[in-house]
Amino acid sequence: MTNPDSTQNKMEKITALCKRRGFVFAGSEIYGGFVGSFDYGPYGVELANNIKAAWWEAMVQHERNIVGLDSAIVTHPKVWEASGHVGGFSDPMVECKECNTRSRADHLLEELDVFADEKMTIEEINTIFDANRDKLVCPKCGSKNFGVVRKFNLLAQTNLGNFSEDWSKEPAYLRGETCQGIYINFKNVLDTTRVKVPFGIAQIGKAFRNEIAPRQYIFRKREFEQMEMQMFVAPAEEMSVYDIWKAKRMQYYIDMGFKPENLRFHEHENLVFYAKAAFDIEYNFPFGFKELEGVHARGNYDLTQHQTFSGVSMEYTDPYTNEKYIPHVVETSVGLDRTFLAVMTEFYDEDTIGEESRIVLRLPKKLAPIKVAVFPLLRNRPELVQKAEEVFALVSKEMRAEFDDNGNVGKRYRRQDEIGTPHCVTIDFDTLGENPELLDTVTVRNRDTGAQERIAIAELVNYLK
Ligand code: ATP
Repeated sequence: MTNPDSTQNKMEKITALCKRRGFVFAGSEIYGGFVGSFDYGPYGVELANNIKAAWWEAMVQHERNIVGLDSAIVTHPKVWEASGHVGGFSDPMVECKECNTRSRADHLLEELDVFADEKMTIEEINTIFDANRDKLVCPKCGSKNFGVVRKFNLLAQTNLGNFSEDWSKEPAYLRGETCQGIYINFKNVLDTTRVKVPFGIAQIGKAFRNEIAPRQYIFRKREFEQMEMQMFVAPAEEMSVYDIWKAKRMQYYIDMGFKPENLRFHEHENLVFYAKAAFDIEYNFPFGFKELEGVHARGNYDLTQHQTFSGVSMEYTDPYTNEKYIPHVVETSVGLDRTFLAVMTEFYDEDTIGEESRIVLRLPKKLAPIKVAVFPLLRNRPELVQKAEEVFALVSKEMRAEFDDNGNVGKRYRRQDEIGTPHCVTIDFDTLGENPELLDTVTVRNRDTGAQERIAIAELVNYLK
């Protein structure tokens, strides 16, 4: 079930707003674009930074036993052999013989409600694909003339640090996920901090995948950002810790203000052989419920693989029982870009205030790119402008603020509503003492209700906070 306004129309409105107001630009736009790449503009980068800060606050600051990390994007190539990415990080790809468009075979089948995924063998996928060929059409040209399905490896290669001409024989890789950087630093963190199992390591950073068919705007990009946390636990505790994190991660979105009916769990139909459990948290995007975040119980596969490939022991000795084991891992993994799109979808709204219709982003204050906008009532009255500049200097020390003296105040409100600014502050003649009782007070207007209050400048920062 999709929500009532989960329509193509809503997606178009969101992408138009993102472009018009400088949240998201198509990557390399002046060169005609670059598929799967997008740039965050001035308000987009503020929103993205706020999303990352909210995640870090919940995952690191509020947790006693989780620490942070920022590992390198390009690592020793063996990392990706150990992780299984060089051998098996692939998606099933099929090419249209008429227009040469490449598609994900599993995504084409999904549209028919037929299940297939990258964990199946290529023979299994081809059997399912063949059984449905008469119903499958190329999304570009509508032809049914597809080739055979083959596996396409998603790891992107680089010659960083390799100066030979045929470097692709020994490539390094742009990381396909951030968590491998966490696994290879497990020992470093253990040896240099006071953490004891169970403990977690959290990381935010770029990941790269040669996605066959990037689509749905910033939902599926080739260069994207992940926010991942790996909790290292005793084998016997893996499933109880898993249940805790599964619930916590769902609650995180509810606490942020998402409607519960726009979120749901989806259990993986097909687990990789080492995994104990895997659920996705799906969000009701304008194109329907899709994966926002994965919560996985991964056993001790990852650390065991790195122990085997590096020769370095990943064993942990319990300080109380002296029991030795390779810790098991509970992972939470979410994309920044998907969270960005979910936030825009969830908090985009249209309503009317008085006679005027408006677009309003009802963003939680924590996420709003600009927390307060400061306006002089008139831009051609230096005494108003000067006072407004003083107020701007005061509030901008404490929070991200914007100064706007362009157009009438109504227009300025509309502009701030569209980018989700919770409060607008206007400096008028009463601020300057025209009405002596209102000297050094300002009008503060609330984004959601349009209600206005008179607040003393001396109280303003506290009020806004
Ligand atoms: P999907 O099935 O949609 O390709 P996945 O299961 O491969 O996703 P994971 O490998 O579990 O994704 O990655 C964890 C998270 O990283 C996802 O839940 C998603 O939020 C994000 N993510 C993965 N691939 C992309 C991408 N190409 N663009 C943007 N975000 C992504």
